[in-house]
Amino acid sequence: MRFKGNDELSEQAYIYTLRFYYGSKVLWLMEVENLETCYFCQSKNIALTPYQRTIQYDGKKYQFARCQNCTGYSLLPRLTEKQVSRLYSSDYVGANENQHSTSDKEYEAKFTDLANYLASHRGTLGKTFLDYGCGANPASFKIARKNELMPHGMELTPDVRTIAQQNTGIKLLSREEIIHGDELFDVIFLGDVLEHLVDPISELKYLTNNLTVEGVLIAQGPLQGANTLTHGIVGLYSWLTHNRSTTYPPYHVSLATLRSMEELLTECNLKISFKIIYEVDWPVPSFAELLFDLTPRNMILFIAKQVDKIFAQLFRDYGTRYFVVCKKLNMIEAKS
Ligand SMILES: [Zn+2]
Repeated sequence: MRFKGNDELSEQAYIYTLRFYYGSKVLWLMEVENLETCYFCQSKNIALTPYQRTIQYDGKKYQFARCQNCTGYSLLPRLTEKQVSRLYSSDYVGANENQHSTSDKEYEAKFTDLANYLASHRGTLGKTFLDYGCGANPASFKIARKNELMPHGMELTPDVRTIAQQNTGIKLLSREEIIHGDELFDVIFLGDVLEHLVDPISELKYLTNNLTVEGVLIAQGPLQGANTLTHGIVGLYSWLTHNRSTTYPPYHVSLATLRSMEELLTECNLKISFKIIYEVDWPVPSFAELLFDLTPRNMILFIAKQVDKIFAQLFRDYGTRYFVVCKKLNMIEAKS
């Protein structure tokens, strides 16, 4: 007799199935529902959503579940460690580097908020800066130096660390060196990182231990779960064509909303002390791209995005990108 367990996705919920075999005959089958929890708040109150496209990856079906508690989306089943390191080998970084060269301005623009924040707090943030998940040629290093902070970087795989060292002259640290080491940093920056993590709670809790008592953790990234007009249209289209799936690899394993980010940070003993929410073109075509490819789909998305941009000007928390600065919760409480 043998048994085998595997993850399965039903229409309604995430299910783990245990099958007990006698030879090739299934003797007994047990289904355990919702073993998984929300990536942001650990709530079990999650349900698969037809409004996000199903992903076919590595011979398996992956789907997003929406959390009723924090409104964030988590990809289920969770990717394994092996899959994650395969996703972030130098192939991924290489592909991104090529993107940089075609849109340098866009890449640099991603660091505007960081540059502004560090410049306006120059001399008050301490001495050391860590870009956690910095990539092969981080723009943040220059910004940190300009603002009197000593830059450090972390990348997951050795091949990317080697390329980064060649590009910057700085030896990057591995995840283990940071998390198991006792080095503390005054500023930790997570630029477009959290949406790639299969366990952001544990990772942030570990990282908070590497933050000095008065240190700041700065995070930025997409709010792909935000309720915007563009997201509504894309969601509706996914629902209408829910039998289709994408084969684009699941680089983003969670889709955040502002509320889910706040829950995640609170869970990790962090509190937002400064935030900016705004709208960007991505992933909708810009005006120049629209003229080049004038399809009804592109036109609808372009118009929806322009409406979203107006809303983002009118409402402070409306938008699909965030930039937040956090402090340790105990620190804030002790001061008040
Ligand atoms: Zn949640």
